Amino acid sequence: MTPAVIPVSLPPDASAAERSLLGKALSAWEVALPVRFEQTSAVLARLEIRFARVGEGDPRRTSGLTAADCDLRESPPSVERAVVSLRRANLDVLDRPVALSDEELLGTALHELGHALGFQGHVAHGRSVMVRNTEAVRRMGRGVLAGEALRAPSVQALYRVPSGAIVGRIALASGPARRLVDLAEVASVRGWPGPWVRVGDRGGRIFWRSPRGGEAALQLLDWSAARRDPQGLVLLPNPSAWSALQGEPPG
Ligand SMILES: [Zn+2]
Repeated sequence: MTPAVIPVSLPPDASAAERSLLGKALSAWEVALPVRFEQTSAVLARLEIRFARVGEGDPRRTSGLTAADCDLRESPPSVERAVVSLRRANLDVLDRPVALSDEELLGTALHELGHALGFQGHVAHGRSVMVRNTEAVRRMGRGVLAGEALRAPSVQALYRVPSGAIVGRIALASGPARRLVDLAEVASVRGWPGPWVRVGDRGGRIFWRSPRGGEAALQLLDWSAARRDPQGLVLLPNPSAWSALQGEPPG
């Protein structure tokens, strides 16, 4: 298979040691998947790796954060742009920053890159970098640092599925379905590009890009629970989607 070329940017403020660790993470994914990374600037990158700003996310619980936006206008849909934010330190119980070790930073980068490459969930069992358990992710970082191959069978399986393949359907209740159709109509009248979709293992959002960088979005609350009870799927408009649905002029 011809590898897909992905333009990637590294954090501009990364030290030589950090750049080397991130390079190792990218190389490990190049071996695991039919992808090849090409370094470029943050503006041109489809995959931007950066260090998290102070106050971003929950420093006690997460070492990394990824947002991948999938462009549904294309056929097959593709990940248009992904941003991976990595933390250099976590806070301990007394709120003191504790710097991540090399294996922690590498493990976290490998895990977050897995999300950026399109795997939105976590695996429950087995040896995989996509488990939620941070200790297991750290061990994976240590292994790759020692020259072992990255283990990511679920992501490899995902890449064997043709892009755009439908793997499941959830019927929307009439309320949320109406909301989605109405917002799509408003967006089309106003010429807002979209829709894009961003999905995590619980929540997600379907959005259009309104002028001045805003997003008119419907938030999916706990879509995984909706697999069991489709009637329970909630699509919550954000303020700009709400005012669009009310027929208010774009502000
Ligand atoms: Zn994760």
